[in-house]
Amino acid sequence: MNLGKVYLVGAGPGDPKLITLRGIECLQMADVVIYDFLANQILLDLHSPLAERVYGGKMKGEQEERQAEINQEMLRFARSGQVVVRLKGGDPFVFGRGGDEALVLAEAGIDFEIVPGITSAIAVPAYAGIPVTMRNYASSFAVVTGHSSALDSISPIGWEKIAIGIDTIVILMGIGHLDGVTQRLIENGRSPQTPTTLVRCGTTPEQEAIEGTLADIVQKAKEANFRSPAVIIVGEVNNLRTHLQWFEQKPLFGRKILVTRARSQSVNFVDKLVSQGATVLTCPMIEIVPIDQNLALDRSIDSLSDYDWIVFTSTNSVNIFYQRLREKGKDSRSFGPVKVCAVGKKTTEVLHQVGIFPDFVPSESLGAVIAKEIGDVVHQRILMPRSRIGRPELLDSLRERQAIVDDIPVYDTIKVVCEEQNEILKKLEDGDIDMVTFTSSSTAENFFAILNDPRSAMANVRIAVIGQSTARTVMMYGLKCDIVADQPLIENLTDSIVEFYCFDD
Ligand code: SAH
Repeated sequence: MNLGKVYLVGAGPGDPKLITLRGIECLQMADVVIYDFLANQILLDLHSPLAERVYGGKMKGEQEERQAEINQEMLRFARSGQVVVRLKGGDPFVFGRGGDEALVLAEAGIDFEIVPGITSAIAVPAYAGIPVTMRNYASSFAVVTGHSSALDSISPIGWEKIAIGIDTIVILMGIGHLDGVTQRLIENGRSPQTPTTLVRCGTTPEQEAIEGTLADIVQKAKEANFRSPAVIIVGEVNNLRTHLQWFEQKPLFGRKILVTRARSQSVNFVDKLVSQGATVLTCPMIEIVPIDQNLALDRSIDSLSDYDWIVFTSTNSVNIFYQRLREKGKDSRSFGPVKVCAVGKKTTEVLHQVGIFPDFVPSESLGAVIAKEIGDVVHQRILMPRSRIGRPELLDSLRERQAIVDDIPVYDTIKVVCEEQNEILKKLEDGDIDMVTFTSSSTAENFFAILNDPRSAMANVRIAVIGQSTARTVMMYGLKCDIVADQPLIENLTDSIVEFYCFDD
């Protein structure tokens, strides 16, 4: 029988980029992923979009039953020849039941591998600016469970040794029993004045920390209604946080920014905002859809050599044109002597990727400027594959200069209702969104259309747009743009947002 294999993979502490390369490889190979509550689901969307997903999370009170079920599911999938990834938060062998699961596999004779992960026990303190060891501060650290069993009278934990024998104590699963944990440490000899930090949702934009001492942290946590998942860090190393805080210092940390651009195009933008610390919410208001059975496009591809110029005005135009070119069994050689014009930096980059170095890249994206800079086009045939709702300026300017332009629509920008819409509207109402971004007029128009009264809904929300024409659309709704990128590029928009918040406070 063809037996499958199980990979016990550590997903890392929360930030989806803190998984290992081996972990990603395994996710890409997986037929089935059994994932836990703490394993970021974005990892599955990114690396195993086609795999079957099984939620292995446990509800309170039914832990043992669910664990037995998970064990059975792993065996069943593996025995049917599937590649199974058992994805666990942090490291699989640090309080993750990874050891128990591996034992079940070993006993059943199922092939398995362990892929270690970055444990929250070290990464979460690191993201809070707390090194678990440090010369002159701490030469030892321990990772301890704060689960209720740890506090039993016959506890498996030697609190009396740990309390005074270890410099830095990191406690997982301890927020629900913070009282008991701090008590155990104090009654076993640790000074009540020992610096203590709690960090929840570490390594994610929701990271939150509370600082105190063993004596007062319980009260502080209560006042802040502090919730899990969080680690408790006890020891002198906590004093370094004042000097080493870095993650929470990112320029967009704590800012909640909404991205409305098409899902297929938002990855890069979202990534840039997240890397600056923002909490990013997405609500795509448009989608780019290639026009199906596009006879006009097919004809133009078949007679490509009849043209003098082909003008690409966006990355979408290039991508969709090339997709059809490939479907017809052709490649860049079909361009022959046809000259290529690329409008914008991104369009140029995408053309470079397919081996085309444009003959001409205008200095600006304005229709009149392009038509002027392109040179003499009298009686020249120009092909322009672009959006069905492309603006008329470029077309008109070229025709004024007596060019013969074939304006071929290759995609539609359609309005979509995003799944997250109601949730987003509620957040907007609750003041839980700081900024909304628009990367085209259509995203702005569609977004305002779902608001009853855009002016009052957006009264306390900042608006950031990619360029002047989107800004004009926003203004037509009686709203003001706080940010207009100096160049219509995602990089510039991100930079402008960062700059705005740096000077905001
Ligand atoms: N195997 C995991 C730990 C599982 S136990 C690891 O190596 O990280 C679950 C506990 O881990 C939680 O109760 C919490 O104490 C801690 N934890 C996991 N992710 C966390 C995060 N992002 N922020 C703070 N604590 C986290």
